[in-house]
Amino acid sequence: MRTEQVDVAVVGGGPAGLAAALSAKESGAEHVLLIERGERMGGILNQCIHDGFGTKLMGEAFTGPEYAQIFINRLTNTGVNVKLDTMVMDISSDRELVICSSDGLIRVKAGAIVLCTGCRERTRGAIRIPGTRPAGVFTAGVVQEYMNIRNLSVGRKVVILGSGDIGLIMARRLTLEGVEVECVAEILPYPSGLARNIVQCLEDFEIPLYLSTTVVDIHGIDRVEGITLAKIGPRGGIVRGTKRFVKCDTLLLSVGLIPENELAKKAGIKLSPVTAGPIVDDHFQTSIPGIFCGGNALQVHDLVDYASMESEKAGRSAAFFAGAGKLPSPSIKVLPGQGIRYVIPHEVSGNEPVDFSMRVKSPEADRYIVFKQGEKVIRRMRQIELAPAAMIRMRVRSDRFQRSLDSLTVEVAD
Ligand SMILES: Cc1cc2nc3c(=O)[nH]c(=O)nc-3n(C[C@H](O)[C@H](O)[C@H](O)COP(=O)(O)OP(=O)(O)OC[C@H]3O[C@@H](n4cnc5c(N)ncnc54)[C@H](O)[C@@H]3O)c2cc1C
Repeated sequence: MRTEQVDVAVVGGGPAGLAAALSAKESGAEHVLLIERGERMGGILNQCIHDGFGTKLMGEAFTGPEYAQIFINRLTNTGVNVKLDTMVMDISSDRELVICSSDGLIRVKAGAIVLCTGCRERTRGAIRIPGTRPAGVFTAGVVQEYMNIRNLSVGRKVVILGSGDIGLIMARRLTLEGVEVECVAEILPYPSGLARNIVQCLEDFEIPLYLSTTVVDIHGIDRVEGITLAKIGPRGGIVRGTKRFVKCDTLLLSVGLIPENELAKKAGIKLSPVTAGPIVDDHFQTSIPGIFCGGNALQVHDLVDYASMESEKAGRSAAFFAGAGKLPSPSIKVLPGQGIRYVIPHEVSGNEPVDFSMRVKSPEADRYIVFKQGEKVIRRMRQIELAPAAMIRMRVRSDRFQRSLDSLTVEVAD
């Protein structure tokens, strides 16, 4: 097998990988290699033809492909080596990658690696919906690719399970293409998608949203002929007498995303049981020195801007590591407290300002997000509305950290 040597190898050419490769190069890494298994860069954004990308980073709402193109243009002529149609098959803890392309297998020895492999959708198997196995059951991302990239229609009458952003966006997209969207069902008592998408994708088109409701049966032999919906009680069981048949020829599943973490697992990187992405410090360095992670491979983002921002930092840190061989060690563990599902980064050094991202466990109104070390509050911010669907970002200045203490708790409080 041929061997190549690079300073920084970035795995994945979506918005996170593009940002990481650019910043690694701009931060002084000489040989930067960006590896993408698809035939073009841009990742999931290529199929997201709706607008709303870039509002935080660029103050303007672009479509997915437009947003990706801005980064692709910036990358052109920087000297970053891009390999398309190339799959990273394996990585090891000593920063060696095995990649596969039309040139065959190549071993790449990297000074540092940034994992930006995105995430994948949960399927019918993952949520175990009973019933027959007819054609017409799709995940939302697959329908999005069929409609927006291949110009294929998937059905005439659709039920959508899951009120996450992708499901909501597809409800609108299908309606605009003349497909009847019967309803969106959501197992939780509150929507999983952003409020703006509930309004713009459902309410504006009078598509009903049924909360605390799920699909408990799929009917049809060759093709979906209908599904059974039922109400779900507070303890997760079906509420007696609430089952009802809904005629449809397509069931679209938008039931969650899971970080693509196979490569991380192969390298022996520690994963968070909550996010399923790697445990990282404030340089986005994983538990294996010199391997970094950003974008949806780290945590599922609702806004691409934040995926780009954190990956920019991961790329910068990777360039630094490739040059210096190490980064300052984190000494303060970050712990999710009352009401917080997770916080990233999981540990910090306290020497630099840190942009934390986090999600709450349940919807709340007029509360505070509080950062505490011991009994001392080091940062506090009022939140008019808190929703699990909306990632919260908060910056803590370096002079606020108490470096003598080894932990920090983030909680929702009054
Ligand atoms: C349907 C949908 C709608 C969205 N709408 C919005 C919106 O309106 N506004 C907004 O701001 N954000 C939106 N987002 C979120 C945003 O698109 C994501 O946060 C962003 O795309 C994440 O970027 P990423 O680079 O981490 O992942 P991806 O875009 O998924 O890119 C990952 C890349 O890694 C490659 N890859 C994976 N494994 C390997 C391997 N082993 N070897 C080589 N390559 C590999 C994949 O092929 C892929 O190209 C939406 C997301 C989805 C799915």
